[in-house]
Amino acid sequence: MAGASTGAGAIGSRLLVATRSTHKLRELRELLGPLRTEMVSLEDIGLPGDAIEDGDTFESNAAKKARFFAALSGLPTLADDSGLEVDALGGGPGVRTRRYAGENATDEENNAKLLRDLAGLAPERRTARYRCSLALALPEATGPRGGIPLRFAHGTLEGRIASAPRGGGGFGYDPIFEPAVEPPGGRTLGEWTAEAKNRISHRGRAARRMHAILAALGF
Ligand code: IMP
Repeated sequence: MAGASTGAGAIGSRLLVATRSTHKLRELRELLGPLRTEMVSLEDIGLPGDAIEDGDTFESNAAKKARFFAALSGLPTLADDSGLEVDALGGGPGVRTRRYAGENATDEENNAKLLRDLAGLAPERRTARYRCSLALALPEATGPRGGIPLRFAHGTLEGRIASAPRGGGGFGYDPIFEPAVEPPGGRTLGEWTAEAKNRISHRGRAARRMHAILAALGF
């Protein structure tokens, strides 16, 4: 058989979401939609430690995080990684999105650096996309070579980097990200409602795909 066995043995009574952020747990709960299985965070089950996110893709970092905490907890574990790819930066900042302006950079510092780096570029050369990868690690299922098997769901949101920040909604790069459905100079995601953003966002798309995977597995 090509893939891993993900039969009834994969289903535990709880699904661990590999985050310490109550904001992210709540957001993923909402985006994933109702499940039969209770979702718990690292804090909920008192699990210390951190996976080393040194992969060069969002998928590999999500996988590292999911496997790491699944091995520690013995629970089926969902992890996400996301970020921004800017075409004029050769796909950067990519997996360095959160640390673009420095190790502990704020959203404002990251936004300011990106605007500086793209200064003078015309709208058609400011194309970019958000990406989100969700990885589900199933420690009780049998992997092909004894490893913890994984399932993935991905989502992308195409857009462009605005010439200046607009809007106070969202987080991260939202005040300088114009979704492709907006004309150049149109509303940034910082000016969209959370509900409208979730319908088209990279994370919303990945979460809906992951919901289908989880539901098919009986979660
Ligand atoms: P992480 O997935 O928590 O490592 O976050 C990656 C970084 O990507 C965040 O800190 C944000 O700067 C950025 N990012 C990811 N998704 C979004 C989004 O939906 N809006 C704005 N920024 C985002």
